[in-house]
Amino acid sequence: MRVAVTGGGGFLGSHLCEALLRRGNSVVCLDNFSTGKPENIAHLKAYPAFEFIHTDVSTAADVPGRLDAVAHLASPASPPDYLRWPLETLAVGSRGTENCLRLARRHGARFVLASTSEVYGDPLVHPQDEGYWGNVNPVGPRSVYDESKRFAEALSAAYRRTHGVNVGILRIFNTYGPRMRPQDGRVVSSFITQALSGEPLTIYGDGKQTRSFCFVDDLVRGIVAMLDSPEGGPLNLGNPAERTVTELAELVLGITGSTSELQYHPLPVDDPARRRPVITRAQDRLGWYPDVGIEEGLRRTVEWFAARPRDVAAGAAAIRGGQEDGARAVGAAGPAAESGL
Ligand code: UDP
Repeated sequence: MRVAVTGGGGFLGSHLCEALLRRGNSVVCLDNFSTGKPENIAHLKAYPAFEFIHTDVSTAADVPGRLDAVAHLASPASPPDYLRWPLETLAVGSRGTENCLRLARRHGARFVLASTSEVYGDPLVHPQDEGYWGNVNPVGPRSVYDESKRFAEALSAAYRRTHGVNVGILRIFNTYGPRMRPQDGRVVSSFITQALSGEPLTIYGDGKQTRSFCFVDDLVRGIVAMLDSPEGGPLNLGNPAERTVTELAELVLGITGSTSELQYHPLPVDDPARRRPVITRAQDRLGWYPDVGIEEGLRRTVEWFAARPRDVAAGAAAIRGGQEDGARAVGAAGPAAESGL
């Protein structure tokens, strides 16, 4: 099987490329490194079955030769990233997705869309199953990500109905693990970076909001199962074990042995209050279930971060800088503070 992975230089994408190569597939990785990093895939160049194409799929997604599947992961996915690159985020979710669907259609390939739990917005139904249509603010700062992924789902569904493309939609919930960037701005990478640097852990809001965190190896197993399946979805992929942000901070402090204090910051605009996936569909249709608990997953992630002290120190400084920058990066202050325009 020869698989194209868009966003293959990113956190999730690079793990997916690796998993596919390890089981003997050929992989064509497409990335423009807007949020991915060449270091994430440097070790994959040792595989003769690995190819890399430097491209922005919003502009072009062409792969010469045979192709059996396309996994479309390319997109900024961290809130500070998509708030920094709103137009690029909309472009890759819309034009980028269409270019990748056309690619899959030309090759008669399976197409798997990496959508997101953000399609549920700030959910009014808890936990979230795939039948829930969501509660999304279409003009708030997060809308660039939420709506582009909702559009990507609509476009993928239309390509399935209109052109018979073998489309599968995955809604990926919060995922963490090695290769997250220390300065990424997401909660797990930020807390680990801060704890290892002796900096305060920055809690947004009162810390009572919840997320359900899935270890990257589990998640990637689910994406591979979806690539192998004719299932259309949408299917939720995530770990249903739900934690408050404060509980996560305490877990990170315990695992790192850090004495960092907790520091409270304003809550970003439209930050979802609760999030937990119902995963019975993925369980029934893909036979998929996450194995790695949060303590074990965090331990493995902390180990990876701790082995990169220079990156962690630089990441801690960048996070501090971003926050001193008026919380603009999280949409918590200034003109972005309101849910409207
Ligand atoms: N968060 C936090 N401190 C941080 C980064 C994030 O308290 O330094 C919170 C954020 O407000 C949200 C949750 O942690 O409620 C998860 O945020 P993340 O950016 O990881 O992902 P999201 O689920 O919001 O896309």
